[in-house]
Amino acid sequence: MSTQPLATNPLLNFADLPLFDQITPDHVAPAISQLLTEADAALEQVTAADFPAEWNAIARVLDVSTERLGRAWGAVNHLNSVADTPELRAAYNAVLPQVTEFWTRLGADERLYAKYKAINPDTLSGEQRQARSNAIRNFVLGGAELQGDDRIRFAQIQERQAELSQKFSENALDATDAFAYFAAEDELAGVPSDVLQTARAAAEAAGQAGRYKLTLKMPCYLPVMQFADSSTLRQTLYRAYATRASDQAEGEAVKFDNSALIQEILSLRQEESQLLGYTSFGQVSVVPKMAESPEQVVRFLRDLAQKARPYAEQDVADLRAFAAEHLNLADPQPWDWSYISEKLKEARYAFSEQEVKQYFTAPKVLAGLFKIIETLFEVSIRPDTAPIWHPAVQFYRIERAGQLVGQFYLDQPARTGKRGGAWMDDVRARWLRPDTGALQTPVAHLVCNFADGVDGKPALLTHDDVTTLFHEFGHGLHHLLTQVNERDVSGISGVEWDAVELPSQFMENFCWEWDVLKHMTAHIETGEPLPRHLFDKMTAAKNYQSGMQTLRQIEFALFDMLLHTEHDPQQDFMPLLGLVRAEVAVLQAPAFSRSAHTFSHIFAGGYAAGYYSYKWAEVLSADAYAAFEESASADGTPSIETGRKYRQEILEAGGSRPAMESFKAFRGREPSLDALLRHQGMAA
Ligand code: ZN
Repeated sequence: MSTQPLATNPLLNFADLPLFDQITPDHVAPAISQLLTEADAALEQVTAADFPAEWNAIARVLDVSTERLGRAWGAVNHLNSVADTPELRAAYNAVLPQVTEFWTRLGADERLYAKYKAINPDTLSGEQRQARSNAIRNFVLGGAELQGDDRIRFAQIQERQAELSQKFSENALDATDAFAYFAAEDELAGVPSDVLQTARAAAEAAGQAGRYKLTLKMPCYLPVMQFADSSTLRQTLYRAYATRASDQAEGEAVKFDNSALIQEILSLRQEESQLLGYTSFGQVSVVPKMAESPEQVVRFLRDLAQKARPYAEQDVADLRAFAAEHLNLADPQPWDWSYISEKLKEARYAFSEQEVKQYFTAPKVLAGLFKIIETLFEVSIRPDTAPIWHPAVQFYRIERAGQLVGQFYLDQPARTGKRGGAWMDDVRARWLRPDTGALQTPVAHLVCNFADGVDGKPALLTHDDVTTLFHEFGHGLHHLLTQVNERDVSGISGVEWDAVELPSQFMENFCWEWDVLKHMTAHIETGEPLPRHLFDKMTAAKNYQSGMQTLRQIEFALFDMLLHTEHDPQQDFMPLLGLVRAEVAVLQAPAFSRSAHTFSHIFAGGYAAGYYSYKWAEVLSADAYAAFEESASADGTPSIETGRKYRQEILEAGGSRPAMESFKAFRGREPSLDALLRHQGMAA
């Protein structure tokens, strides 16, 4: 335990940016415990009977205190993600339960709820009204209005649901892990050599030297289904995969059956909804979302399905014809489709990712990205300095007309101790501070995991990496360009969950724009831009089977929403899945297939009656981008006016008003499916 005085603890220094170069694991417990004590005291103070029910009075005490806790914890959490050490992890885990407990308690505090309700809305700005109504809504959905037995029951339901979700995940994982098939060499023709190497080592470790241990984990299952020439082998793995965690699983594995858990989860959700005054969980789910009702979601999904169907049917017809002609498969079975699909893709669009990579050097891509942002959103991005956690981290400031708008850290390379994936996180939000009256500018983290450069040369990015970078910058701009002054609705805060991917997916579109890409690429040896013929192949491959993929996503989304609205939780849910498949799918699943039993998104992952949001946000972002396509000049230069409008109505507005209002203010109408269908090659 640290003996350092609190006064010199860098986690308690809020003067400006986090002191990432000074924070050590020893600082975590004393600082967080100090901030928790302060936050607790602040909560007690503002909820006292004689404390005024006034927005600014509460904010000056409680919001100032919770913001300090949030910022300090954010710094610890960030270091835990990008510079993990055993000591830091231990320090993090030691205080995590207390931090979680505080936020949960804050969100359920009846006295605070009463205080917010008592605020006179006429005394508030528009932004404050939105923040207050979000806060009240969240309290209500958390059961704050319930009394007596209902209140007790509501809490029991939450607790039981958490247990069931956890058990559901464990079953899905255990069922996946429980399966192994030890294949002989002559069964494995076609399987990539790196997969074989791993499988051979795994078999040897399991005492079956000379054989190959095949599993249902993605890095093994997927390539086997895509590349193994043996249909029998694919069938073995397919059957095991499709029946995981279900009553159809074979032998011992049936003990991981999730059927009863699903039924109980659905019943509890139904009961919870009724306690809150709704008829179905689907209705509860859409309350804080952009979608207005489950019916609207179902109509949206069915409409999209109908438009995608002809393309999906064509996809299947192409696969059948190719299989019959080239693969001697006249009557393909469910375990054949991935294999056929890979073979057809190779025949049509073969190009090398390795070749593409040679054109995308990290500095050139970043310069191209900055140029787009600067032009479209009328800002300038300049290098800046800040305390950092690793020498590879870059720090920048965004300015408009000489004024600071926001700052961001960019941590690109993968390294030991850094969590995989890519993400945007907020360091602090734009906020007209109620304590000092000063305007706090926003700061964001942008984190990726790209490969390092070799032999002193710049890092090479795959096209996927480039898309990821643009995606995360989309989130970053949403957070950094906001002009909202109220913390809880500024930037990405308070944005509806099904609309939050709009700005990120929007930015991805630029990565498929020839006029953009040609300026962002330079071959690492020759300096030549990406050749047009290679770009054309990449685009064609991108839309390969988009019809089938769209219907696959809609099948999941429609099942999810109907399951949480029209389905009686006392009944078996398999007939509903059958109906949805019959309505949507172009390739019928075999009778033994139990995809719902491992549908962790909705039974263990917070996406219940919300799986539709993937497609929903794609429609929004495609339609927003279409405004730029429509207004671009003949040589492809994007329109500054459109950029300004997008920035003002979508990015700057943040969570200060409903996303639908922002969208309509930008586009002049409600979202339409057309742009998404066109971008994915599904337009006549
Ligand atoms: Zn995202």
